[in-house]
Amino acid sequence: MADAAHDIALPTLGEALAWARQRIDPLDARILLAHAARVRTATLLAYPERTLPEEAWRRFRDLVTRRAAGEPVAYLTGEREFYGRTFHVSPAVLIPRPDTETLVDVALAVADQRAGAALRILDLGTGSGCIAITLALELPHAEVVAVDRSRAALLIALHNAQRLGASVSFVESDWFSRLGDEHFDLIVANPPYLAEDDPHLNEGDLRFEPRQALVEQHEGLAAIARIVAEAPRYLAPGGWLLCEHGYTQGHAVRGRLLDAGLLHVQTWRDLAGHERVSGGRKRCPNE
Ligand code: GLN
Repeated sequence: MADAAHDIALPTLGEALAWARQRIDPLDARILLAHAARVRTATLLAYPERTLPEEAWRRFRDLVTRRAAGEPVAYLTGEREFYGRTFHVSPAVLIPRPDTETLVDVALAVADQRAGAALRILDLGTGSGCIAITLALELPHAEVVAVDRSRAALLIALHNAQRLGASVSFVESDWFSRLGDEHFDLIVANPPYLAEDDPHLNEGDLRFEPRQALVEQHEGLAAIARIVAEAPRYLAPGGWLLCEHGYTQGHAVRGRLLDAGLLHVQTWRDLAGHERVSGGRKRCPNE
C-alpha cells in the first residue's frame, strides 16, 4: 500500500514542517527541510506558503524517516558547524562538538603567549579536521600537521581543508607512529575517551558515530595515556600538549601529564563548567 504521504498533493513549506514536527524535533525538521529544499532556514519562516517541489518533498520525507530512526542530523545533511565554519562530515568521522571548541580556545590562548615566535602545531586523530583546520585558519602563520590512522577520515579532512582554504599537512599515522623526529610547539588531541561500557554509547548520535573515534580501553584512558607518554619526545622545549577528555577524567589526565614530566599542568572547563581539556608544557633547557 502506498505511503499516505504519497497520496496528498504537494505541501507548502509550512505544511511540510507541520507534518515533520509530529515525527521529529521541530528544530531538526527545520534544518532538514532547508537542506531538502536547498533554501536557508530563514526562507522557511519567511515564505511558508511556497509549494515544495516534488523532488524536495521526496528527499525531505526520506530524511525525516531516517532522523526518526535516530540518524544524526549532521550525517543526514553532511555538515556541522564548528567554530563558526561549516565542516563536511560523514559516518567515517566524529561529528564536531561544541565541547571541542574549548580545546581550540585554549590552543589559541597558548599560541597567543608565543606571539611572534614560529609555531608548529600537531593535531592527533584529526577526524573531520575541525581542530587542525580551525587552528590553521585562526593562526595563518602557524604550520599545522594533522594525523589520523583512518584513511577515510583523512579524505574528509583534506576535503574540508581545501573547501575552507586552510593549509594543513595530513599524514596517515597511528598517533605518533609516522612522525619520525619532528618537533612541535603545540600538540592537540581530542582522542577517543569513552569507556567501553559507557551507557551514552547507546544513546543519540553516538550510536551512529565511528566506535574507534569514541571508545578506548582502560576506562577510556588508553589513548590519552599513550599520547601523554609519547608526547614529550615530539614537543619542542617549552611546547604545550593539550588533550580533551571526559568530564570525570581530569584528575587522571593531570596525573599522567605530571608523570610525563610536563610543567604547568592544568585543566580548563567547557561552557557547561565541566573539566574538559588538560595540558602541560615541556621544560625549557634553562628551567
Ligand atoms: N579531532 C576530531 C574532533 O575533534 C575527531 C576526534 C575523534 O574522532 N575522536 O572532532
